[in-house]
Amino acid sequence: MDIQFLGTGTSTGVPHIGCDCAVCTSSDKRDFRLRSSVLVSEQDRHILIDCGPDFRQQALAAHVSYLDAVLITHEHYDHMWGMDDLRTLGDNHVYAEDRVLAVLQKNMPYCFGENKYPGSPTLHLHTLLPFQTYLIAGIQVIPLRVMHARLPILGYRLNNCAYITDMKSMDEQVLNYLDGLEVLVINALRHTPHPSHIALEEACAWAKRIGAKRTYFTHCSHDMGLYEEVEKSLPENMYLAYDGLRLTNI
Ligand SMILES: [Zn+2]
Ligand SMILES: [Zn+2]
Repeated sequence: MDIQFLGTGTSTGVPHIGCDCAVCTSSDKRDFRLRSSVLVSEQDRHILIDCGPDFRQQALAAHVSYLDAVLITHEHYDHMWGMDDLRTLGDNHVYAEDRVLAVLQKNMPYCFGENKYPGSPTLHLHTLLPFQTYLIAGIQVIPLRVMHARLPILGYRLNNCAYITDMKSMDEQVLNYLDGLEVLVINALRHTPHPSHIALEEACAWAKRIGAKRTYFTHCSHDMGLYEEVEKSLPENMYLAYDGLRLTNI
């Protein structure tokens, strides 16, 4: 299985509009972060996790021509509202929990039912429940319940990898589903605490408890600092993800 990081930025992306800090003006490509999303591939099957407003640009850069499934973590703008650009990919199978699917139908009514507008994306909706096991495009998928402040959202375990973004807390029982991971991807916003996202220090503590062989941090803000400096400061087997990073043969 391969994981390609299409975006590793927080909701504003990096650079931050109107900011001239060292990160936002950095010439290191690894400091340039589109909204968070990954493409998980197993042979010729492809699963997209989250489809934010940068999806078009991300799909062009990664030469996406087909998706077997789109998994959504939650309904916030930076995770879901690039979905109109799925229109050129034919039939799309979208997996999320019912609350999120309802928001999708409400916000993109022209894609559904009798109202479906010609040329609009074809979206087949599939409900996910936390902690159930699904086989999606040949990959074992277990949705995990994590909390984004007070909003319950989903992380995902896919075979021996897990992708958790926008998490502020999670129940101890979730750890039972994170045993024996080869790769953990988890959010880390910046250095100082934030009400709805874990900061780097908290992310390192969770990563240590989860004990994946390798951990990559994503959903970073410009306040995280320069990639090159932060990367050097991280504990063993923990890394900052960056846009375009590809993990192969996991
Ligand atoms: Zn987000
Ligand atoms: Zn900045």
